[in-house]
Amino acid sequence: MEVAPTVQSSSHHTVENNRSRHKIPRDVEKDIEYLYEVVPQLSRIFRIVDKIGEGTFSSVYLAEAQMTDGSRKMFALKHLIPTSHPMRIAAELQCLTVAGGTENVMGVTYCFRKEHHVVIVMPYMEHQTFVDIVGSLNFEEVRHYICHLLKALRHIHKFGIIHRDIKPNNFLFNRQRREYALVDFGLAQGTPDTQIEQLKVVKSNAHKGGWSSGRVEVAHGKQKLLPLPPNTRNPAVQSSTKAPAKRSCPPSRIKLTKGQLSKLKKEEVIPQKMVSSKRISVPVKTPLNGQKQKATVLSQTLRNQKPKPAAVSQTLTCSCYMTDRICNICLSRKQQVAPRAGTPGFRAPEVLTKCPNQGTAIDMWSAGVILLSLLSGRYPFFKASDDMIALTQIMTIRGSRETIEAAKKFGKSIVCSRELPRLDLRILCETLRGLRSCDDGSLPVEFQSSRHPTEIKQDADSSAKKQLSQSISGSLKRPAELQEMGWDKVPDEIYDLLDKLLDLNPATRITASMALQHPLFKDIKD
Ligand code: ADP
Ligand code: MG
Ligand code: ZN
Repeated sequence: MEVAPTVQSSSHHTVENNRSRHKIPRDVEKDIEYLYEVVPQLSRIFRIVDKIGEGTFSSVYLAEAQMTDGSRKMFALKHLIPTSHPMRIAAELQCLTVAGGTENVMGVTYCFRKEHHVVIVMPYMEHQTFVDIVGSLNFEEVRHYICHLLKALRHIHKFGIIHRDIKPNNFLFNRQRREYALVDFGLAQGTPDTQIEQLKVVKSNAHKGGWSSGRVEVAHGKQKLLPLPPNTRNPAVQSSTKAPAKRSCPPSRIKLTKGQLSKLKKEEVIPQKMVSSKRISVPVKTPLNGQKQKATVLSQTLRNQKPKPAAVSQTLTCSCYMTDRICNICLSRKQQVAPRAGTPGFRAPEVLTKCPNQGTAIDMWSAGVILLSLLSGRYPFFKASDDMIALTQIMTIRGSRETIEAAKKFGKSIVCSRELPRLDLRILCETLRGLRSCDDGSLPVEFQSSRHPTEIKQDADSSAKKQLSQSISGSLKRPAELQEMGWDKVPDEIYDLLDKLLDLNPATRITASMALQHPLFKDIKD
């Protein structure tokens, strides 16, 4: 960025100032006030105008700053939850600083820290919400969207960054300006040869931990504006060659709770020793319908996330502040096991089955799931609240035999009680989009409707069928409209690419740079 924001003379922006400009809900106002309070130096530079994102691990705000040339510029301020592990934060920042700012990857402008509060400042990119536009995109827009996503992935994969959370919410898209930006390296991991130093030390469970406490906070009360990169002394970007934090071993067994089991029909589960090591039983027809089922899954998750008692006593003094290492005190801070595992519906089969060797191919699978949404007009495509449900849904589309075969190749055995046939991707997408009559027998009976495949009921009775045919007629676009959008003559190439992205075997799955060589993109230049 050529023009730096200036420190404004008025020392404090209150939310009251903002309110006169535009209407902000009360709770957002409170959040903004809180952010000014915990990171006061923000108020000298930014006028925070709104909250634009709220996740489990961060809140993102829209802010305005006056630049040295007098112009005003908008920024996105990502306030990380104060309990984020320092190494995790450092890794996120380093991904942005090293790989960001080019090739459809979001860059970073500054970083602020006060005590355990970290705010990452990025250029603001206005964007649409995927669910609002997925049904209205024309074919050319879809082709360009996926091409730009692949470019971002090629770029980060070149640095040995595995993003691990590829989904539309993390790939900002401005339809009018045809701008794209990959965001959110909060889950990123490194390949064995990664160029991102921090990714060499950060491991899957370093989500929690926290900075420092007690006296330390008092001692480090003064904060600076910390321009990034190149050689950051920012405590949030410390590099460390110390041993990585303890890696939690992925469980080798996947259990269904008693509660879950009792809800399943007997024949749906292989009963004996269904959870021997590396063996996963998947309830085929289960989930997708009952509230009760969902509640059971949820309570299991909650039980697994019991908060751990805080590890650091108030009297410990951290000795690594403003140095380029992480001290033993900081390293010993207990990490909460917060499986910030991305979204089940975007996770590759090898992730769902907890295969220990995961590489950049997992991002390619997620890109495939996004393409599946773009081509079918359905989002989210896989609506799964847990990994087993997600795996079942994948088998519904890609075939159970094929999934089991692929899993064998990466060392996992899956047991499935019913054979689910592999579906033709074009027929599936065209049917869901309402382009194709559903009753020509080209799809299994469950799909002979415009209903979402993952909504399939165990026994669709006639009243359900009636509802279906109504929803079909409602969702059908006129042929002229479809023609105009290019959906009437979609080339085979895009389904070929989709098939290669959704390759169940990560070893043969197409890479980003290979995908960009695909004939589908032969006319698109950088
Ligand atoms: P989280 O880790 O909480 O998911 P993200 O980095 O994904 O945080 O940001 C959450 C949301 O905030 C994004 O989905 C996007 O809508 C918005 N956002 C993040 N960064 C920017 C940015 N630079 N410009 C505009 N919006 C952004
Ligand atoms: Mg995100
Ligand atoms: Zn320390």
